[in-house]
Amino acid sequence: MSIVAIVGRPNVGKSTLFNRMIQRREAITDSVSGVTRDRHYGRSDWNGKEFSLIDTGGYVVGSDDIFEEEIDQQVELAIDEADAILFMVNAEEGITPMDEDVATLLRKVTKPVFLVVNKVDNNQREQDAYEFYNLGLGEYYSISSMNGSGTGDLLDEVVKILPDTEEEKVDDLPRFAVVGRPNAGKSSFINALIGEERYIVTDIAGTTRDSIDTKYNRFGFEFNLVDTAGIRRKKKVREDLEFYSVMRSVRAIEHADVCILMLDATRGFDGQVQNIFWLAERNRKGIVVLVNKWDLVDKETNTAKEYEAMIRKEMEPFTDVPIVFISVMNKQRIHKAIETAVAVYKNRSKKIKTSQLNEVLLPLIENYPPPSLKGKFVKIKFITQLPTPQPQFAFFCNLPQYVRDSYKRYLENQLRKHFDFNGVPISVYMRKK
Ligand code: GDP
Ligand code: GDP
Repeated sequence: MSIVAIVGRPNVGKSTLFNRMIQRREAITDSVSGVTRDRHYGRSDWNGKEFSLIDTGGYVVGSDDIFEEEIDQQVELAIDEADAILFMVNAEEGITPMDEDVATLLRKVTKPVFLVVNKVDNNQREQDAYEFYNLGLGEYYSISSMNGSGTGDLLDEVVKILPDTEEEKVDDLPRFAVVGRPNAGKSSFINALIGEERYIVTDIAGTTRDSIDTKYNRFGFEFNLVDTAGIRRKKKVREDLEFYSVMRSVRAIEHADVCILMLDATRGFDGQVQNIFWLAERNRKGIVVLVNKWDLVDKETNTAKEYEAMIRKEMEPFTDVPIVFISVMNKQRIHKAIETAVAVYKNRSKKIKTSQLNEVLLPLIENYPPPSLKGKFVKIKFITQLPTPQPQFAFFCNLPQYVRDSYKRYLENQLRKHFDFNGVPISVYMRKK
């Protein structure tokens, strides 16, 4: 999957363009999961080509004085990590010193950069846009994010240069990605897995330019590890930037079946960890949460239980996720961590027979049918699992549009109760029959 990043100073219209580009898909996923999280990362497609879109502006949190530095760092990260960069400026205001700064960084780049002049809502603005040639980035695209004009031409050109992402699956082994904030212990975990060289079966070229897939045979399991933690960055950047961990996680997550989300027990399930969690959930990947550095926590009888409850609270409504307390340093429960990831992988690839689904669910539905809406009664006739890599279920009924999200959640909960989908996001669709 290619990554397209939108950079530029605040208020030029980045998030307006972002929302326009992801609109349709987001509407679909959000109505199913019922959650709205990180609004700055999404999937988009144009002319049949799918890509991930990141609005870097959403991750700027600096106060005024560190603002500029932070934007520069984000541009540098985008340069390193994205496949194409949309540099947005504002025709209403013309070139500002911050635009010049960003342009200076971008002129050195060999990656495709699209200069996007926004807020070109009328002919006068079209004239004003000429001044942006002075940024030394060549041709520009004038658009109005607000009314959409010019965005089609821009997208035509963007998807033309994106690499074809025909993903070659090398084998059918589970693909695990270890993700999390810097310093959670990801490299230590991977080193512990490697242990001795003999556990590594082969090194194969990663599916992306900067991830390495390594085939392991460890604790009696065979799997591929999508390793981005091991690839250290060339330039020095502030690793505490939220944007940093998002960028580092996106690729790994997209290429994995199961995300092993590692957190530092002394820091907890904080905002950055949550963002990575929802990134994985939105990509419909399996998830295992590892609470690492458990050796550093003072423990009483219920410490683990309480800690776990606290994490589950933050995960709502997707709480059916395994949480394993580990210490990489003491080599505690590393085996259990991998075993759990394998179990989640199996849950994600599980296929339930139509007959079994109907046998279990139809009586439950009969006992608790969808509440009537505007005097209409929904009759669910049968259920089937779709032949997709991750669990999706179609409920065939007379009036699919009359089923509320809360009832879909009920159906999801019943699926989870009767079939083991621990660690796996599942999708419930109502279909017309
Ligand atoms: P960001 O900070 O770069 O993400 O900018 P926003 O997307 O939040 O937009 C900043 C302001 O510019 C908002 O008030 C938008 O409604 C407005 N805006 C965005 N795109 C356009 C446009 O094409 N034309 C006009 N006139 N206003 C726009
Ligand atoms: P990464 O940035 O996520 O790859 O994190 P590292 O693997 O580089 O680990 C960050 C720091 O945490 C290092 O100093 C490790 O030695 C330390 N560390 C990793 N796992 C543990 C653990 O289980 N317990 C303790 N106390 N420290 C750990």
